[in-house]
Amino acid sequence: MRKMIIAGNWKMNKTLSESVELAKSINDSDKVGVMIAPNYTALAAVKELIKDKKICLAAQNMHYEEEGAFTGEVSPNMLKDIGCGHVILGHSERRHVFMEDDAVIREKVLSALAHDIKVVLCIGEKLEQRETGKTNEILEMQLKEGLKGVEKLDNVIIAYEPVWAIGTGKVATVEQVQETHAYVRSVIESMYDPEVASAMRILYGGSLKPENAPELLALEDVDGGLIGGAALKAESFNELISIGENNS
Ligand code: PEP
Repeated sequence: MRKMIIAGNWKMNKTLSESVELAKSINDSDKVGVMIAPNYTALAAVKELIKDKKICLAAQNMHYEEEGAFTGEVSPNMLKDIGCGHVILGHSERRHVFMEDDAVIREKVLSALAHDIKVVLCIGEKLEQRETGKTNEILEMQLKEGLKGVEKLDNVIIAYEPVWAIGTGKVATVEQVQETHAYVRSVIESMYDPEVASAMRILYGGSLKPENAPELLALEDVDGGLIGGAALKAESFNELISIGENNS
């Protein structure tokens, strides 16, 4: 049985004190994995605060090199050093605002795994790709390119996030989500084997909130959510954790 994950991506929101306030109010859970991804300046302080709780800390990005002349970047060693055990890679904003391609994302995935940092690999199609019937092709390519050279998927979680649904208030329908998650699982099966595919956690992301979560988190191939907007308030995020628990 796959343990559901409720993950909050705080993006470039919250000052240090606001991050600490928010982290203090987040519930932990025995039934679902709770994960939060504050910005870099708040990671260490939030880690200190949650160290006795069952809440995982994630970074929102990472460089693949350990150190060097990479102004503005943060390395896997730096994340490990503060006890940050997860990293979100390939988020659509990294792909489309910061122009990260699959080759760079793969370097990051390989580096994170080599440093024992678990990866939340985000994939997703743009609106015009969905409208022209290219969703499956795009997702397959992002999976195959992003995971090239990754032998074991034990430390990988996938987040399917249709780009057109992120931060827009537009939510994919339950049919679209179930169909796409099942497809993602089938690609993992073709790349690895049925056991690996059936153990893989596939999160849905894209305007997920307490109002739409009950039906989306109940879908067979949805193993949790990666949440942006609704993760910025403890009330809605805690509600999503409870909905996840009810579906576990
Ligand atoms: C995200 O940031 O990954 C996300 C899904 O954002 P939102 O929930 O705001 O659409």
